[in-house]
Amino acid sequence: MELRRVGIIGLGAMGRPMAEHVAKAGHSLSLHDIAPGRAEEAAEATGGRAANGPAGVAAASDVVITMLPTGADVVRAALDEGGIADGFAEDGILVDMSSSEPSGTVALAAALRERGIGMIDAPVSGGRKGAVEGTLTVMAGGDEALVERCRPVLETMGKRVVRTGPVGSGHALKALNNTISAAGFLIAAEAFLVGKRFGLEPETMAGVVNASTGMNHSTRNKLARFVFSRGFDSGFSLDLMVKDLDIALDLARDTGTAVPFAALSRQIWAQAQQNLEPGRDHTEIVRWLERLARAELR
Ligand code: NAD
Repeated sequence: MELRRVGIIGLGAMGRPMAEHVAKAGHSLSLHDIAPGRAEEAAEATGGRAANGPAGVAAASDVVITMLPTGADVVRAALDEGGIADGFAEDGILVDMSSSEPSGTVALAAALRERGIGMIDAPVSGGRKGAVEGTLTVMAGGDEALVERCRPVLETMGKRVVRTGPVGSGHALKALNNTISAAGFLIAAEAFLVGKRFGLEPETMAGVVNASTGMNHSTRNKLARFVFSRGFDSGFSLDLMVKDLDIALDLARDTGTAVPFAALSRQIWAQAQQNLEPGRDHTEIVRWLERLARAELR
């Protein structure tokens, strides 16, 4: 049976533009966000409907997407009184597209299964740009049949939808991706600050590195767009980055894997978080590094 009626809970930097793509594909939308007025604004823009809380969203939906800050937020939205589980008719499906903790996801999926509700995890990569353009990479964990049922909805938001394995595996891979991405950003910023103090220009360094073996996603995209421009507006917060690194370190601990470099990287990101005001964009870690280096990447 086709999943026509889609609910979305969490209409922030990612959920809001994702809702546009789901609506454009012809799905009916029920929306909820805890921030006053946000669901109403999104409903107006997409032709959807603002629902009365998570249960209200589920009651009007075949599938509910959560795009919330943390896995704990998703568990509360799903299982608290007036939550998604209370609202769903039989055969409802929860698709958690947030970057949540894999162990919490496995437990939540089991609790929902007992109530006749299916669940997959489908976190994304590609940032706000990918969400706006509908070109996200989607890492879908869950029973194959369930993932395939959700695929048409996921494909409205992503250009690459990959089944990663059982439920929780998407969330595991997402945290590992961000571990690589965070370290790549950090080492590029540090190296460029050394170069700046030596007298090299950021654009010269980026041009050469991007044609050399040091090239990564940050040297190719993020530094120029968000740091050299001084915009620091990637749309992905420092708090959420540290959350993802914590998830990856938990995963390392749970699997008994030694990760000295990831642990050091997490420590540096957390230190920046403590030294910058709350709510900062993750690219603003460079402002803190610049203070330490007494140089700026302009
Ligand atoms: P955000 O903070 O911009 O948006 C979260 C939204 O959820 C806000 O509108 C907030 O009001 C709402 N919210 C919070 N708690 C709620 C609750 N209990 N009930 C209803 N609404 C609630 O966050 P975001 O950047 O959109 O990220 C969402 C998730 O996607 C996170 O897990 C993040 O790690 C992940 N992610 C973000 C990006 C990015 O570039 N921003 C990229 C990939 C993945």
